[in-house]
Amino acid sequence: MTDRPDDDQRLVVALDVGGTGMKCALVRPDGSTAHAERHPTDAGRGPDAVVATVLAVAGGLADRARAAGATPVACGVAVPGVVDEAAGVAVWSANVGFRDVPLRDLVATRLGLPAALGHDVRVGGIAEARLGAGRDARHVLFVAIGTGIAAAHVVAGSAAVGAHGAAGEIGHILVRPDGPRCGCGRTGCLEALASASAVARRYAALADDPRPGAAGTGPGAAPADTAPTRSAVSAADVAGRAAAGEELAGRVWREAVEALADGLATGQALYDVDTMVIGGGLARAGEQLLGPLRAALHERMTFHREPRLVAAALGDEAGCLGAALLALDSLERR
Ligand SMILES: [Zn+2]
Repeated sequence: MTDRPDDDQRLVVALDVGGTGMKCALVRPDGSTAHAERHPTDAGRGPDAVVATVLAVAGGLADRARAAGATPVACGVAVPGVVDEAAGVAVWSANVGFRDVPLRDLVATRLGLPAALGHDVRVGGIAEARLGAGRDARHVLFVAIGTGIAAAHVVAGSAAVGAHGAAGEIGHILVRPDGPRCGCGRTGCLEALASASAVARRYAALADDPRPGAAGTGPGAAPADTAPTRSAVSAADVAGRAAAGEELAGRVWREAVEALADGLATGQALYDVDTMVIGGGLARAGEQLLGPLRAALHERMTFHREPRLVAAALGDEAGCLGAALLALDSLERR
């Protein structure tokens, strides 16, 4: 099962359950991965079927650990949405369909092991803060920019959960009162302006705008024959086109960076961190995002100390590793 010999035979079963896929692993106590596998979530089957898959995959991983002569000691599960970590309940999730699912106890019963349930971004933040890009800092804000925007405030390796399991919803900070409508129902939330989906949507809207000049017909604009493909572009395409000098893409990218800087400045006012770790799909643009974002954040700092802005280091494995760390933490508290 493992390529490397390891004296420590304890393993943690870890699952990060997303709307489309589950990242699953057996993780050693030092945070290294002994085995990893992925499965489709198939959320359209309904929450009961997803729970059945979670239990089957977790059970299979525990069996796999035992078959290799190791000892599964705990199970950590990360899910999106609103998570009551203390009660171990997946309270609400739009993309997986969970409503008050007592997932921690279901997993613990099925596996006969102690279990922990965490929020995907919060445990991702724990992993980045302890094992990834924030490992040299004590106060870290992990910001995941993907379909939405959420954050985890991690101090000394632990993430604040909030009174209702909903801490870190930085995507719903109001940054443009007259801005586009957000999925939460309000207008002008950060995530309605600067999530990967928002960047793609904004580009498509401007590209399809028939008004002269609206689609950036000036110098540097894309040739007219590329126009039909514009409304299908992703945020990564927008980043690529902006880097290539396309005017419209550059404008959309700058607008997103400005909105993000406003949101992060509010985050720094609230949390006063050493390091902000930027993750999620949009962060794959690397310095094309972080360079201008650093400059825009710098402009907004008054008396606050400017945080170090770095790219996430663990990619999409952060949630799975964080779920394992959360399970290990819960063992220490028992
Ligand atoms: Zn919102």
